[in-house]
Amino acid sequence: MANWTVTVDESTCIGCQTCPEVAPKTFRMRQDSIAEVIQPYGDDSDTIMRAAQSCPVDAIVITDNDSSQKLWPE
Ligand code: SF4
Repeated sequence: MANWTVTVDESTCIGCQTCPEVAPKTFRMRQDSIAEVIQPYGDDSDTIMRAAQSCPVDAIVITDNDSSQKLWPE
């Protein structure tokens, strides 16, 4: 399992609903149509990374907890 932190930049999210469609155990849409993280390891690592890469505005930020390096967006 990846040791990372997943966050959604809510000021950047445009509410396209892609991330909960790709990784529904990790993301959900709030009532105000902004995505939020419900479980940082809800889906497997590849699925979560794919969700982040699917975001059209790069609002999903993944940071490695060991190195503090940003893994996504690159
Ligand atoms: S994919 Fe990006 S823009 Fe779309 S809902 Fe998720 S965080 Fe928001």
